Amino acid sequence: MKPVITIDGPAGAGKSTVSKALAARLKFIYLDTGALYRALAYKALKCRIDVNDPDKLGQLCSNTDVILKNKNRAMSVFVDGEDVGNKIRTEEVGLAASTLSTFPVVREKLLYLQREAGGRGGIVAEGRDMGSVVFPDAEIKIFLDADVGERIRRRHDQLVEKNSSVVLSDISRDMQARDHQDSRRKIAPLVAAPGAIIIDSTSLNVSQVVEKILEHISGVHD
Ligand code: C5P
Repeated sequence: MKPVITIDGPAGAGKSTVSKALAARLKFIYLDTGALYRALAYKALKCRIDVNDPDKLGQLCSNTDVILKNKNRAMSVFVDGEDVGNKIRTEEVGLAASTLSTFPVVREKLLYLQREAGGRGGIVAEGRDMGSVVFPDAEIKIFLDADVGERIRRRHDQLVEKNSSVVLSDISRDMQARDHQDSRRKIAPLVAAPGAIIIDSTSLNVSQVVEKILEHISGVHD
């Protein structure tokens, strides 16, 4: 079976770009698990559901159909039949996702979907708990990090590219709130999983990070 490659790390460390490039190089499936949490957050915001209320979140989870569809080796998220695509890529949705992802009812709902997507291997799965909780037996585990200033700058550039009107100080505030919440929560906090190699991407470009990971993979398979 082809391996499962997990890529965890904080917001803005370059996980998505690196994971997509790596999956393309290896002809593996790319799974963005943050999109699943964002998808539920998107519905919660749309239906004005309090993302701090576990009972309301329980109802949201039971009443929401979340599925993953493989489109050209990338998994797209559908919520109640709707392809949520770019609608989930705002900082507002990211922050709401970070809050609702602290609740077990939400994590349990999404765990099975993630494991099912990775069950046959040949996948690059990115998120916060890929190596620690979702795929603890993955052969290749990466923890991708970068300085907070660099991460804020990258997220700013990404949002500007998508024509969002963004203010650097707002991104800085939201990202630090998210980092704090994601690394301090009780279940599945953001950590480098046992066995993960840590890559600091602050002064590396995407190809350099991908090369480092490929070198690591060939080392493991020697
Ligand atoms: O990666 P992304 O920024 O899209 O993730 C949005 C939020 O979803 C994160 O801040 C985190 O709280 C949550 N998340 C998670 N576990 C994952 C992926 C994302 O808790 N595996």
